[in-house]
Amino acid sequence: MIHATDFVYEAQPMRVVLRAGAAVTATAGEAERLGLRRVLVVCGARGKDTAQAVADSLGPALAGLHDEARMHVPVEVADRAVEMALAVGADGCVAVGGGSAIGLGKAIALRTGLPLIAVPSTYAGSEMTPVWGLTEHGAKRTGRDRTVLPRSVVYDPELTLSLPVPLSVTSGINAIAHAVEALYAPDASPIVSLMAGEGVRAMAEALPDVAADPGSLDARGRALYAAWLCGSCLGATTMGLHHKLCHVLGGTFGLPHAETHTVVLPHALAHNAPAAPAAADAVARALGAAEDAPTALWELAGRLGAPRSLAELGLNEADLTVAADLATAQPYPNPREVTPEGVLGVLRAAYRGVAPGTD
Ligand code: NAD
Repeated sequence: MIHATDFVYEAQPMRVVLRAGAAVTATAGEAERLGLRRVLVVCGARGKDTAQAVADSLGPALAGLHDEARMHVPVEVADRAVEMALAVGADGCVAVGGGSAIGLGKAIALRTGLPLIAVPSTYAGSEMTPVWGLTEHGAKRTGRDRTVLPRSVVYDPELTLSLPVPLSVTSGINAIAHAVEALYAPDASPIVSLMAGEGVRAMAEALPDVAADPGSLDARGRALYAAWLCGSCLGATTMGLHHKLCHVLGGTFGLPHAETHTVVLPHALAHNAPAAPAAADAVARALGAAEDAPTALWELAGRLGAPRSLAELGLNEADLTVAADLATAQPYPNPREVTPEGVLGVLRAAYRGVAPGTD
C-alpha cells in the first residue's frame, strides 16, 4: 500500500525527446547539448542500417560505429567496445537498438565515464534505468550506477516500424511487467503509481493497434510513450518475484527475454495479488478489465497471439525445481513471502500455460 504522505521519490536527471524521425533529426542536437564532439555509435548486427543512419546524421561529430552488441552484454564484447571508444578518442556514446545495444552503451559508460545517449528500438525500458549488466563465464552480474543512466533518450516511432509484431507484443508486455511490479514495490510512490497506471493503460491500448497495423506511426508512438513510462517505473523502484524469475529463466536457461516476461507475468501477479490487492486493482483498472488483472493480462497475451507457456519457449519440466531454487536462494523484496513451494507453483502454472489461478 502506498502512502501519499510517506515516501521517497528521486527524479532521474535526463532529457526525453519523442517524435517521429527523431533518431536522425534530433540525436545530433542532443549530442551537441551535451557538448560532444567525438561520438561512438553502438548497435547490434541486425540494427546496423538504422544505426548507420543515426551515425551519418552526426556529421563531423561521428567518431566511429561499433556493431557487435549481443544479448546480455558478454564481457569480451564490452572490452572490445571500450577499446574502440578509447582508440577513436570518443567523448560520448550513442546506443541505437534494443536492451542489448543500450546494455553495451551502459558498459562503455560504466568503464569510461563517457556520457550516453540512448535511441531505443524496443519497449524493454533499459534506457530509463541506472542498471547495468555484464555476462562473464555464463554468469550475469548487474549493478546500479548513475554513470550509466543515459543523459538523453531519443524515442523515434519510425525506428520501431521494423520490430516484428510478435516481438512488439512481447516487448510491450515486458514493459507492462515493470509497471506492475512498481505498483507494489517497497519504494513505490504516488508519482510512480501514476506513471505505472498510465503506462499500462497506454501500452494495453497501443498493442492491439500495433498488431493490427504495424506500420501505424500513431500506434507505434503510443507504444513508445508507454514504454517510456513503464521504463521510468523500472528505473525508480525495486522489482520483485516476477523480475527475479525472468532473470533466472533468461540467465540460466537462455529463455528469450521479452517472451519470458510475457509468459510469467500473469502467474507472478496472480501469486502476489492477495498480498497487494490495491496494486492488482490498479492494474485491472488500467487495463479496463472486467475480470481480475492476472486473467486480463493472460487474455491480452492470448488475443495478440503471444506465447503463454514456458514449455513453448523450450524450458524442460525438470528445470522448474532448479529455477525455483535459484529464485529463492537470496532474499529480495516482494509483497508476498517468497517460498520454494510458492515459486514452484508459479513456475508450474507458467510452464503449462494454464489460466492464472487455475493450477
Ligand atoms: P534485444 O535488444 O536483444 O532485441 C531483441 C531482438 O530484436 C534482437 O535480435 C534485435 O536485433 C531485434 N530488434 C531490436 N529492435 C528492432 C527493431 N526496431 N526492428 C527489428 N528488430 C529489432 O532485446 P530487448 O528485449 O530490447 O532487451 C533485452 C535485454 O535488455 C536483456 O539482456 C535485458 O536483460 C536487458 N534489459 C536491461 C534493462 C536494464 O535496466 N539494465 C532493462 C530492460 C532490459
